Order: sequence, then C-alpha cells, then structure tokens
Amino acid sequence: MTVQKMLASNGKEDFNLFAITQVQLDAAAEVLELDPALHALLREPVREMHITFPVRMDDGTVQMFRGFRVQYNDARGPTKGGLRFHPNETIDMVRALAAWMTWKCAVVDIPLGGGKGGVACNTKILSKGELERVSRAYVRQMGRILGPEMDVPAPDMYTNPQVMAWMVDEYSVMQGHNDFGVITGKPLPLGGSKLRNDATARGGMYCIREAANALGINTQGATMAIQGFGNAGQYAAILGQKILGATIVAISDSKGGIYDPNGINPFHAIEHKLATGTIRDFTAEGAEPISNQDLLELDVDILAPSAMENMITSRNADHIRARIVAELANGPTVPEADNVLYQNGVYVIPDFLCNAGGVIVSYFEMVQNAYGYYWDEATVDARLDAKIAAAFQAVHKRAQELGVNNRVAAYCVAVERVAEAVRLRGWA
Ligand code: GLU
Repeated sequence: MTVQKMLASNGKEDFNLFAITQVQLDAAAEVLELDPALHALLREPVREMHITFPVRMDDGTVQMFRGFRVQYNDARGPTKGGLRFHPNETIDMVRALAAWMTWKCAVVDIPLGGGKGGVACNTKILSKGELERVSRAYVRQMGRILGPEMDVPAPDMYTNPQVMAWMVDEYSVMQGHNDFGVITGKPLPLGGSKLRNDATARGGMYCIREAANALGINTQGATMAIQGFGNAGQYAAILGQKILGATIVAISDSKGGIYDPNGINPFHAIEHKLATGTIRDFTAEGAEPISNQDLLELDVDILAPSAMENMITSRNADHIRARIVAELANGPTVPEADNVLYQNGVYVIPDFLCNAGGVIVSYFEMVQNAYGYYWDEATVDARLDAKIAAAFQAVHKRAQELGVNNRVAAYCVAVERVAEAVRLRGWA
C-alpha cells in the first residue's frame, strides 16, 4: 500500500515506517529501472525471528517480554544494526529500521548487510537487575542467529554499552569462549572501539561540513538547532561547536525545549539534562522556552532532528526555514515532506547517510576485534571522516546528475550496490 493510500484509509498522518521504506525504495527502483524480481526481493526482509521470553522481576513475579530481530538483507555481508528497548516496539518498526541499516551500510560502502532488533519494554521503570536479566534473556533466545559472521547487534534507542557488555558476556557463555565480535558499541575494556560513543553525531558533523562546502555556507558561527537530546543530540551539540564552530541556538527533548540566539553552552545543557531528566527548564543562562514544533521551524543554518521518526510531515514541511537539515534520527522526514523541502531548496542530508557514523565505527570495532589489535583515536577519526565524506560526495554528485533529492540519490547509490551483490550471487 502506498503512503498516499494509507493516508486516505487512516484519515491521519499516522505512518507505518516499513511502508515508508518501501515507498522510498520504489522511487529509487523507478530511477534505476530495477529488474522487478530484484525489486521485489529488496522490498522485504530475508529473515526474521520473533521471541517471547520470561524474566524474573525484582518482586519475585515472572513477566513475559516480546523481542524481535530482523535480518533484512545479507548479500553484502553479515547483517548489522542496533537493538532498541522501547515500549511501543513493533515488528514493522524493526523491519523499517533493518531496511535502513541495509541502505546505510551500502551507501557508506562497508561490507555488511542490514539488521535490527528490539524488545518491547520500558527501561525507565526497569531496575538495573531487571534490565540485565532482559538483556541476557534476549541473547539466550536470539543467540542462535547472532555471531560475528552472521548478525551483529549494537546500541540504539534506550540501550547502551552496559547492555552490550551483558549481552556479549551471555553470548560468550553460550559459545564457551569470549566472542567480542558478536556485538559492537561495547565498553572499551571489552573490545569496544575508541570514538564509538560519539560516532553517530561525529559522522553527521562531517556530512554537514561537506554540505556547507558544497552550498558555500561558512559553518563558523552558523546557527544550529537540535531536536532530541539523547546520545546523538548531546554529541551533536558538543561537536557542532567543536568541529563546525557552530552556535547552538536551540535544543529540545520530548518534554520541551530552550532557545537562545546568543548560544547555549552544550556542556551545561547536558549537565542539566542528566540532573533533571529534561532540557526543558534550563533557562538559568538566559535561554527562553520553545516548543518542539517551533524549534523545527526556526530560521537557522542547520537543523538536526536527532530524536524520533515522523517529525517533519506535510503539516510543517512548508515552514522549515533551515538551510541544511541533517537527519541524525532515523526516519524524521516522511515522503511527502521530502518533496516540499526539495522544492523549497532546503538541503536535506538523509538519515541513512547522515547518521551512518555509528555503524562505520561499529564496523571498525568488528575489524579491531577480529585482529585483536586496537587503533588510537586519531586513526578511527581519520578513517571515519574519509569514509563518510566519500559517501556524502557520491550522493551529492548523484543528486546533481539525476536532478533528484538527496534521499532518492542516496537510495540509488545504496540500492545499486546491494543489487549488484544480489545479482552476482545469483539470487535474482
Ligand atoms: N543503531 C545505530 C544505527 O541506527 C548503529 C548500528 C550499529 O552500529 O550497528 O545506525
């Protein structure tokens, strides 16, 4: 079903993310004149596992949890992608994110396929012990389809290096030996990579630098608004200032935001968020409150949606005044909004390119685990920069050549690579 048909049948803009990924793929398939069988293969995940598992809670009761892992496409290598612990996790959400991982790994040309996983749970109400038991129980069930050569999870929404550490430990117990390469985003003492923590935002900053160069924008003193203040948003504030020389004028999270045209100190903002759980009331240094919606519509040089999906829709797309939209979140812009932004001359750096820094450094982590030899920070940084800048240039060039928006161009680059691998292997 197309997004337009879904809109008609729902009567509201309540998008199914997986249907959105298929509509996006269809647009690229048309431009590439993709063989119909190959197109059909790329529209669906090749493999998925659904599990239900028991966890003993602190009060002695046993609760059942639902978990998923989708291995979308492994033509180019083992599937790769994060694990989300979110109360509203659905299989279609995981399918969509697994599809985007496939295009993400391909567009930055790392030898991995795409996967994603999730557990429907609310980490805000789980104790540390319960979180550990959920993490371990997930791996006990899912471990049979994971492995450095098969499928490699990583952190995503509401999971972190500690969760990865429990998981790698559980998997190693199952194998009877340490197997650090089964998961990335691990803490440094367990085979983690330098710079993995800030890699998503760092890669995004390198993309913004390239985009600004292409558009003739000086990033020194450029204004930047950040929607979402989790891992990606927090590091975007720090690195936006450090790498780009930008002034962070607005930040928001799910509870509300702040605006200060003179600039917000990212470190103080993070301290406040850690202490109170939200950025909303951090007004001590002169910032004013701003709603999430108004933040998106600010007249800034750079807007970085870094939180949830479906934030820029046909309702607000016409009001976006940023010159560059750097999508650090997965899926913040719906297809109709894409066309409006493109027509209005807003330069969008699409999510699976803009936020690929995380998986690039995850790939470096896998390489380091396989070698048992670890790189210094400067090496990781230089290799990340080279990889993502090359991907940016390939997408930018393709968009200019074809006269299409950057998302369609990114799909063309990525889909072509996956399609070639599929063809060579004789699958279609
Ligand atoms: N969860 C991150 C993403 O969406 C990273 C995935 C990974 O490192 O495997 O890109």
